[in-house]
Amino acid sequence: MRRLPILCALLLAGCGGERGASPSAPDPARLDPIARRYVVLALELGHHDPNFVDAYYGPDSLKAAADAESLSVPQVRAAAESLIAVLGDRIPTYADSLVGLRHQYLRVQLGAMATRARMLGGERLSFDQEARALYDAEPPHYPPAHFDSLLARLDSLLPGREPLDARYQRFRGRLNIPASLVDTVFKTAIAACRARTLAHLALPPGERFDLEYVKGTSWNAYNWYKGDYHSLIQVNLDFPIPIDRAVDLACHEGYPGHHVYNALLERALVRERGWVEISMYALFSPQSLIAEGSANFGIDIAFPPAERVAFERDSLFPLAGLDTALAGRNAAVRQIMERLNYARNEVARRYLDGELDAAAAQAIMQRYWLVTPEAAAKTLRFIDTYRSYVINYNLGRDLVAAWVERQGGDDEQARWAAFRALLSAPHLPRDLR
Ligand SMILES: [Zn+2]
Repeated sequence: MRRLPILCALLLAGCGGERGASPSAPDPARLDPIARRYVVLALELGHHDPNFVDAYYGPDSLKAAADAESLSVPQVRAAAESLIAVLGDRIPTYADSLVGLRHQYLRVQLGAMATRARMLGGERLSFDQEARALYDAEPPHYPPAHFDSLLARLDSLLPGREPLDARYQRFRGRLNIPASLVDTVFKTAIAACRARTLAHLALPPGERFDLEYVKGTSWNAYNWYKGDYHSLIQVNLDFPIPIDRAVDLACHEGYPGHHVYNALLERALVRERGWVEISMYALFSPQSLIAEGSANFGIDIAFPPAERVAFERDSLFPLAGLDTALAGRNAAVRQIMERLNYARNEVARRYLDGELDAAAAQAIMQRYWLVTPEAAAKTLRFIDTYRSYVINYNLGRDLVAAWVERQGGDDEQARWAAFRALLSAPHLPRDLR
């Protein structure tokens, strides 16, 4: 805490233009000490919240500063709020519009950090308040009738006399990759996603990732970005892996998803501009909506639906020894299941807001996702840990998709150019609206 009042005083003394006091454009360099302080505070909040810092590959000196200062949660919150006050409510007009985005990014990311500190301090927010404060987003509300109509469409795709969940699980059971072939199928999917990405985006030389298989985690897959254009991607093998997951995970975690997003940000902002805050990825922050949304939309931009079905049917199904006649119907089922994914937001909202207990939440998940009790329990574990983070996958995807489509229309090159622009700048969810 000792350092902050001095820092604020220095910043305030040097901040012409913020409140209209000076007609000249503000000095972009004034953001550098705020950015360094943001990184230190995020690392310090990470001392109290092991999930807060998803990735950090910036200077060791800032890590040492965080370790030495070691603020309490309320002190981190107060320090973040002081920096927000320094940044002000209005984004000044910088000569370089990217610096304006940087100013806004720091302001909004600090707001999320202060909120997360409030939550760690015991403050209870509703699901929607939390989504707004942490992810800069307004999750839509869907009534049960919306999901029931999707179930009716699924019912017509999977005819039979058994209950729908039994028919769905039997159908999905025919699509699991044999355990001995998972690695081969994944590596084939990754190579295809990478080739399709490289046809449209120039990636930094030397970019690469390692692939590991794990068990016992609450997530299905994770990208741990290490810096230096390197990721570690882990895939959970607790449950059999259906064939869809190959393209999903290869695109989402790798190309053009998380790995590419992190590598492009590192090149454009950390290395070329020296913006240290980008080397910090705070998980419970608006950046996650952009990260998860772009990773999920990355599947669709790399593999438009018809091309994906053809690739799965002609390459992955034979590789996994699966019946290629199922590929088309599986794609139709998948499209409905993606819309049913919003049911997870509704369950999470009602469960976290205290309207449903764990048993009732699991029952609704089983109804709308047609999953086993074990899989529903695993999803509930995810919600317990990550809470309103669930909106980042589906709402994030839909916001990114709509934004890219507005920028690029039907032109494939223009869509990729818009996507590249999104992945190379400190954008926030509010920029997508
Ligand atoms: Zn992700």
